[in-house]
Amino acid sequence: MTVALATEQGIAAVDLIAESPLAIRGMTVSYGEKPAVFSVDMTVAEGAMTAIIGPNGAGKSTLLKAALGVIKPLAGQATVFGASLKTQRARIAYVPQRASVDWDFPTRVLDVVMMGLYRELGLLRRVRAHHIDKATDCLDRVGMADFADRQIGQLSGGQQQRVFLARALAQGADLYLLDEPFAGVDAATEKAIISVLKSLIDEGKTVVAVHHDLATVTEYFDHVFLINTRKVAEGPVSEAFTSGNLIAAYGGRLATAQIDQLDLAAG
Ligand code: ADP
Ligand code: MG
Repeated sequence: MTVALATEQGIAAVDLIAESPLAIRGMTVSYGEKPAVFSVDMTVAEGAMTAIIGPNGAGKSTLLKAALGVIKPLAGQATVFGASLKTQRARIAYVPQRASVDWDFPTRVLDVVMMGLYRELGLLRRVRAHHIDKATDCLDRVGMADFADRQIGQLSGGQQQRVFLARALAQGADLYLLDEPFAGVDAATEKAIISVLKSLIDEGKTVVAVHHDLATVTEYFDHVFLINTRKVAEGPVSEAFTSGNLIAAYGGRLATAQIDQLDLAAG
């Protein structure tokens, strides 16, 4: 019966959105006349590492910011674990693109990580020994425990990035959104970050990262989301990371020789 079938499919579609750590529907964002993100749907797979991929200016950062309510979309909405963003904020950790944070203001590394504990600290902001222990543990996970007393502004870009990841870990979130976590970091930091992200996946958490190095997509990620203002494709790397989708997203900005060197899915 057509009616019953249609209803069942309708319910199945709703369930998928309800279970997703992040479901974006009809998201359109504009800074001026031309939209930066146009009518984008995204359904993030739980317990997976998803790469958001697309050329410079494709709207990757904008999509994340709109999903988080940092900027107001023209249209569309996002749900987090099937509920409104407002009620789920504590479950999301966001590491913005590094260049967007100005750390001239003197702040100790440990205090940056403590910011991730602000919900636990409560209104009085009373710091207890176990809070410091927890923040120190998080620094240890990213290999930065020895830097706890340093000023954040005195660290290298890669070291700063690890500290921001430690702050996200301190939050104990279920969904981690990172905007180009590997941009401008040294190889050792990239290794340290990817191993922490993989350990989050082992704990059942969900990770979404804007990623620009196509050569490491297959090694690092389970899922991809390709965007160029509009969504180009999304799905498991083995299905969606194809030369056709890359050409659709990047156009002439990717040379055939570059594509030939990638570990791509068939199709
Ligand atoms: P990506 O992260 O994929 O490189 P962005 O989301 O940063 O892309 O930017 C998408 C488009 O929106 C680009 O054309 C960019 O120039 C523009 N844009 C981004 N942020 C702003 C802003 N604050 N004001 C005006 N235009 C912006
Ligand atoms: Mg960006």
